[in-house]
Formats: sequence, structure tokens, C-alpha cells
Amino acid sequence: MIKTLISLLPEQSRPRLARFLVLAVVSVIVRAVSVVMLVPLVSALIDGENSRALAWAGALTVATILGWWIDAAASKISYELGFALLNSSQHAVAERLSQIRLTWFSASNTATARQAIAATGPDMVGVVIYLVVPVLTAMLLPVVIAVALIPIAWPLAVVAMLGAPMLLAALWGTGAISQRADHVADEANSAMTERVIEFARTQPALRLARRSGSERSLAGAAVARQHGATLGLILMQIPGLLLFSLASQIAVFALAGTTAWLTVRGDLTAAQAVALIVVAVRYLEPFTVLGELAGGLETIRLTLRRIASVLAGPTDTAGTQQPARPGRAPRIEFEKVSFHYGDPAYPVLDELDLVLDAGAATAIIGPSGSGKSTVLALVAGLHQPTGGRIVVDGVDAAQLDSAARRALVSMVFQQPYLMPGTIDENIYAGHPDASDDDVRRVTALARVDEIIDRLPDGAASKVGEGGALLSGGERQRVSIARALIKPAPILLIDEATSALDNENERAVVDALSVDDERTRVIVAHRRSSIRRADRVVVLERGKVVESGTPEELLASGGRFSTFWEHRGAAASWKITSQLTL
Ligand code: ADP
Ligand code: MG
Repeated sequence: MIKTLISLLPEQSRPRLARFLVLAVVSVIVRAVSVVMLVPLVSALIDGENSRALAWAGALTVATILGWWIDAAASKISYELGFALLNSSQHAVAERLSQIRLTWFSASNTATARQAIAATGPDMVGVVIYLVVPVLTAMLLPVVIAVALIPIAWPLAVVAMLGAPMLLAALWGTGAISQRADHVADEANSAMTERVIEFARTQPALRLARRSGSERSLAGAAVARQHGATLGLILMQIPGLLLFSLASQIAVFALAGTTAWLTVRGDLTAAQAVALIVVAVRYLEPFTVLGELAGGLETIRLTLRRIASVLAGPTDTAGTQQPARPGRAPRIEFEKVSFHYGDPAYPVLDELDLVLDAGAATAIIGPSGSGKSTVLALVAGLHQPTGGRIVVDGVDAAQLDSAARRALVSMVFQQPYLMPGTIDENIYAGHPDASDDDVRRVTALARVDEIIDRLPDGAASKVGEGGALLSGGERQRVSIARALIKPAPILLIDEATSALDNENERAVVDALSVDDERTRVIVAHRRSSIRRADRVVVLERGKVVESGTPEELLASGGRFSTFWEHRGAAASWKITSQLTL
């Protein structure tokens, strides 16, 4: 926890941290000394030695004012440190998330990342002032009090010295017990959050399936599990609380007993004994404070752990090389490329060899799940091969500088995601410096003009979260326009099977045919898009089973010709059914 904190703190804040720690330690010493000063003060008062009492009262006042002054200075620095920490942790998390390997984003890791970002605010600012100070105080104050007691009553000093580790151990035990329960509760909480979001998102399907009752859904089960975990958390905290209260009673008993014994023996006056009881109370105070802070401490620990786990997420290392022919359509070669998402036992691609010719259009076809989208993602550099390599104009793609790699590729995803904003903004996102002419050209090519004409706000129409206000086909067309406008020498299109309307078909075909100065790869489902391809690759279970020009493959009578006839039959079925309507 401390390691994560320190690693998050920006380099230039280190001297400030050192200054803060010095002030905090001095503050604890001053406080311990003023507590112990109560002993001579109270005895002088009781003994009626007014001038001595006055002197001690003066000293106590000076110490108290000094303590305040130090605390004020320390808390100012602690806020500065807190904000520096907040700033750097948010930056670090955001920066890491933009580089983390995409296969890392499982449901639970995504939840962790979300919580890491959401929880950083007040937690991080408060971490120094609300946690570092009390923890330091609890660890130091009792020890310093014990040392200061040596000249007054050394046996009492020994008891105080021994009590400190015992109380800290009890606190630690309490923490360890509740930590285990917290961990379970935390996991149940994450699961519940995920399920509730999923429950909300899948409402239409659930309602039609008559599964909308919360108690029968996965969300209902997750809520029930979370209740159970919360109850467990409370039950598990009880032994922890008992442990700490037992330890503090033992400490009080030992301190009071020793004082009484020393008084009976005549080593201490009655006045000193009274004052020492006050000291004993102050001695216990920081532990009680720390015990009350245990919950906050745990929250911070969890936040820091989440941040640490995001920061430890795997990234793909990029190289420093530039493309061999920047801006020109490259030749792309897969050399024995293997890839798996999570489990290596389920390879999606297994030593795949594939050549995508420079400036050519290659259509990839194959059954669902054969790895077509994965091939595109690998070309785009969204995933890195787990074996073999991808070579772009003779340069290993893994050696390319990451910005250069991104500039190479423009892509239309199978399930296109639009950014919340207007249609125009989404198109410009592909190339922020595009001219109006460019925008007009791509909106016409991608048939977005037809959508713009139909909507009341035209190109300024909002697309909604993820593009939800547009239909699947419209989303795909906007994303084709966005891909076309980006001046990247590689264009990848993952044709959406869900958007089989005529406008979409023409948008895809035009995108493929007009931009023939690019190396184009399309995952194709329709005859019209395949017809535009210079070469067809048939993929099955991550292997190329046929490849050649469409004519060659048709003539050979293999899988492609079967597919072609099947698609032809489907198309004519569509026409006849329309005619009979
Ligand atoms: P296609 O596009 O040909 O339908 P994909 O490349 O999308 O096939 O998927 C190939 C295989 O990889 C499938 O078995 C699919 O379940 C699996 N897969 C795809 N994406 C992921 C992912 N993000 N995590 C885990 N498995 C995935
Ligand atoms: Mg796919």
C-alpha cells in the first residue's frame, strides 16, 4: 500500500513528502511531551506550589501552540500532496488504460478499472491527512510517551513501551479479519454492479423472454449474494472489535495497576498518580482513533489495490521503427501467426500464413467464429500475435512506432461504435483536419448523405450513446465514412451481417472500389462485396483453406463456390419474397 502510494507520487513531490514526514514526526514528539508535562503540572497544582505550576503551565502553552503551528503547516503540505497524488494517479490510470492489451479487458478487470477511476477523487486527496497522520501518530505517540515517562517512573515506561506493540498487533488482527470479509463483500459488489448494468441493457430481450422479474435474473442472484456478503462482513467484524477492546482493557489495567503499585511503594506521589492516569488515557487515544479509521483505511487500501492492478496490466511493447514507405499502400504478410484470447488451449489462429498484396482488395470469408474479425484486429494492431509475426513492407509490425502503426490503419468494425456527439463530429473523428470537400465526398460514398437528408438536424443530429439513436445499418455507414476520411494506407472493413440493406451494400462496395490506392481487406458476406475483391481467402477454424481470385475459386468448385451459390440462392429468395409481398 505504501509502495503504491509512493510510486504514484510524482517525482517533484518527493521533497515535499520528506518535509511533511519530518513535520509529522516533530508534531507527534511535541504532543507526547505536552502530555507528559501534565505530570509535573498536576503535582505542582495539588501540592500548592503555584509558581512551579505556573512555569509548567507556561511551558505547556508554548508546546501546544508549537504543536498547532506544526500541524497547520503539515496539513497544508498534506493537501498539496493529496492533490498531487490524485492528479498523478488519475493520469497514470488513464494513460495505462489507453495502452493496456485489449485482451485484458475481461468483465471483472473492466469493473476494477471503472472503480479505480471512480474512487480516486476524495480518497486520494484525503489519504495523507486522514490516514498517514493518524497511522504515524498511533505508531509513534505511545512510544514517545513511554520514552518521556522514563525519568518520571521507569516501570511505567516499560509497561507503556510493551503495550504499544500489543495494541498495534490487536489492531492489525482486527484489520486482517475484516479485510477478508471486505474482500468477499467487494467481489460480490463488483459482480452486482456488472449484473445490474447487464440487466438494464438486456431488458428488451428479458421482457420478451418473460424473464424481466428481478428475482429470477442473474442480477437478482447477484444482489442476493451481495446481501449475504454484507451480513458476513458485519458478523466477521465482531471478533475483530472484541479483540481490540480486550487489548485496550489489558493496557489500561496494566498502566493503572503499575501506577497504583508504584504509589503504594511510595515511588510516586498521589498527585503524580492522578496525572499519570490522564497520561494513560492520552496514550490510548491514537489507537482508538486508528480503530475508528479502520473502515476508511480499508477503502483506501482497496482503491490503491485497484489502481495498482490497472497499472500492472499488460501492455504491448511497441518499437521505434517507421514504416518502410510511409503513406503508401503496404504489403502485409502473416508469417505463421498464432493467436489466442484468454486460454492458450483454445487458439483462434494457429500458424496462419497469409499475404495481403499492396494496394489490392482481399475478401476474407468463412463461417462464424473462424477468426475473420481476429485477423483484421491483428492487422490493425489491436491485438498482438501470440506467435509468429506480421510484416508490413518488410518491417516487423511489432517494431513499428505505436503512433505510426495507428496511422497506417483505418477500420470499420463489425459492430461499429460511435462516439456520443453529432454525425459530423463522428466523421471528423477519423481525420480532424479534413476539408469540407473531403467530408462531402465520404458522406456521399458511404451513403451518409441519405441519412442526413432524412434527419431534422441533418449532419448536426446527435447519434446518442454508442450511436444508439441510429439503426445498425446507419451506424455502419457513419463508421464507413469515418474510416474513409482517415488518410490511412490500409483500409479494413468488417462487414456487418446485421445490416444487409441495399444502401449499406452500396456503401461497402463503393468504399472498396473507390479507394484503390489503399491495401484493403474486407470480411465479406455478400456477393457484391466479394466481386470487388482481387483475391478471396477462405478461412476455417483459423486456417486458410482456399485462396485465389474469385474466378479461380469458382472454377475449382471448392468451398468458395458452394458459398457463392448459397449466397446467390439467398439473394434470389429475397427478391422473390419481395415480389410476392
Ligand atoms: P469471426 O469474425 O470469423 O466470426 P472472430 O475472429 O470474431 O470470428 O472469433 C474467432 C474466435 O475467437 C471465436 O471462437 C470467438 O468466440 C473467439 N473470440 C473472439 N473475440 C473474443 C474475445 N474478445 N475474447 C475471447 N474470445 C474471443
Ligand atoms: Mg467477425
